[in-house]
Amino acid sequence: MKKLLFILSFVLISFGCQQEKSSAKKETPKKVNDFAIIIHGGAGTILKKNMTAKKEAAYKAKLEEAIKVGHTILKNGGTSTEAVQKTIQVMEESPLFNAGKGAVFTHEETNELDASFMDGKTLNAGAVAGVTNVKSPIELAIKVMTDSDHVMLSGKGASIFAKEKGLEIVDPSYFYTENRFKSLQRIKDREKTQLDHDDKKAAFYDADIKNSKFGTVGCVALDKNGNIAAGTSTGGMTNKRWGRIGDAPIIGSGTYANNRTCGVSSTGWGEYFIRSQVAYDISAQMEYQQKTLKEATTDVIQNKLTKLGGTGGVVALDKNGNMSFEFNTAGMYRASMDDTGKLIVKIYKE
Ligand code: ASP
Repeated sequence: MKKLLFILSFVLISFGCQQEKSSAKKETPKKVNDFAIIIHGGAGTILKKNMTAKKEAAYKAKLEEAIKVGHTILKNGGTSTEAVQKTIQVMEESPLFNAGKGAVFTHEETNELDASFMDGKTLNAGAVAGVTNVKSPIELAIKVMTDSDHVMLSGKGASIFAKEKGLEIVDPSYFYTENRFKSLQRIKDREKTQLDHDDKKAAFYDADIKNSKFGTVGCVALDKNGNIAAGTSTGGMTNKRWGRIGDAPIIGSGTYANNRTCGVSSTGWGEYFIRSQVAYDISAQMEYQQKTLKEATTDVIQNKLTKLGGTGGVVALDKNGNMSFEFNTAGMYRASMDDTGKLIVKIYKE
């Protein structure tokens, strides 16, 4: 009997040790970066053959300029919130991206801007939708988080709030760019007329329609205190109407951040990103299924979103400083920088 008890306790103890070993192995992934930053400038049918060398260089230079602003803030001990705001503002001010100046046009030939922000430490968040006269929608989204009792404000109310808080108000014409206006006209033409007799022209117009869904900007940062922040800013989709709102201002779809898991910013066909809760799903898979960032982003974009028929991508960064670019489109304007200052800037799939 004594012998049996001894064997039994030996078996139980060694089983216990095994369990501990395997869970310890899972719970102690290494920190790969003390701080890091990752950005996107939209995903879509971005093909090298349709790009001039000049245009490609302009996009790369702006992505580099933007990410370096955030990286410097983080390097000097600044917060991830500040890094995300300042980085996104560089892209909002550039006509190259569909956010702030350079935003796409609605069917009514206006610009309606959406943005959101989330703080991974507190899980506080702020968002704005359908804003027409606030220069920096990302700044406004952050203000909603810090200076109101709400998470999301829209339209006129959001503008009144912005004025009250002293944010820069601009004439709506500030957002006008000829390129985006022409895109809208082409899409409207395509809707009205049958161009199919001219295949080349039709293909050009169709590519335009496809890309009309894309171009958002986003940023995720991890600061030296281990705080993750994520933000997204967009003009939405060309030719949108009826006050359409995409995923960009929706927490859990376009933006999510949680210090226990990761931060995510999305870009793509918003309706699918809302239905898939893309940003939150990535965090949830890490939290509940102990997936790595790469496993979670791959599953959500390449498997779940793709099966549903959605197109686009995400940039994501986890609490250990791992970073991931994931998209199912031909390209995504993107960049990352780690704590050593290593810079990656890319446009196409490799
Ligand atoms: N996701 C944005 C929207 O649907 C568009 C984009 O990312 O380019 O409004």
